[in-house]
Formats: sequence, structure tokens, C-alpha cells
Amino acid sequence: MGSCVDCGCETKRTATVYVGVPKIGVDGLLEMTYIPQTDFLCPDCVEKHARHNPMQLVLCLFLQLGWVEIARHGLYSVGGLLGAGLGLYGLWRLTILLYIRCRTWHKWSNRTPKWLAKEVDAEWEASDLYRKLLMDQGRDADGCILDIRAYQRIHGDL
Ligand SMILES: [Zn+2]
Repeated sequence: MGSCVDCGCETKRTATVYVGVPKIGVDGLLEMTYIPQTDFLCPDCVEKHARHNPMQLVLCLFLQLGWVEIARHGLYSVGGLLGAGLGLYGLWRLTILLYIRCRTWHKWSNRTPKWLAKEVDAEWEASDLYRKLLMDQGRDADGCILDIRAYQRIHGDL
């Protein structure tokens, strides 16, 4: 147990980010070594963060412009197929956002269905929020703090 870095309440949940430390490698080039940093972050703060991430909604709506491409070029064209792909991906992301909102509004306690579990990743949301908190404290001046997903993208799966 420890106190949440955001609201200060007692919690068992933690969040992890990876802090990049530049160092000179054996070949004389500058290398980034990422060290995990973990702190307490309560589920309530993470839920609130997941709900109030307007950029996700903006991205989903932006992807809906893909349907315009279909209207302009027809479905069976490069632009149309690309547009359909973007539009469908946007709808999928929108479904996930709606699920997260419904879950918090209605206080669903049942487990997230398997097909959504990978997308509605509380561990990643926690990591993303923790990174933002550190950034707000001015701890990410050179952009070397990564959330879990960004770290996995660069270093492959953990
Ligand atoms: Zn909290």
C-alpha cells in the first residue's frame, strides 16, 4: 500500500513508466538506456484519465473521414479501400471508448470481455497517466519518459 501520486489516497495499484538515461555506448555513440520507474496510482484516477482523453475521440472522428474517400472514389479503388480501413478502425476505437465510458458510468464490475481486454488496458492507461503527471512536473524535458506501450513498441514485447 502507498499513496496515489495523483490524489494521495491509499492504494495497492501501481503504474510504471520507463525513464531514458542517455549514456555513451562502447562504440562511442550516445545510447538510451530505459530504467523502469514505478509509483502508486489509484484505479479511480486511472479511470478518470481514461474517460477524459479528448484526443482519442478526436482521432476516432478524424478517421471517419475515410468514408468520404469511399464516396469520392468508390469502394473498389485504392483510396476507397484505404478509406474503408481507416473508417472501420475509427469505429473500432470508438467502440472501445464507449465501452470505457459505459463501464465507468454504470460502475460495471463484471470483467472486460476477452476481445476487448487487450484494447482496454488499465495497465497502459495507468502508465500513460503516470507519464503525463511526470511531464506536468517538468520531469520529461527532453521527452525521454516512455509509457509501457511506447516502450514495448521500441523494444519488442517485455
Ligand atoms: Zn488517485
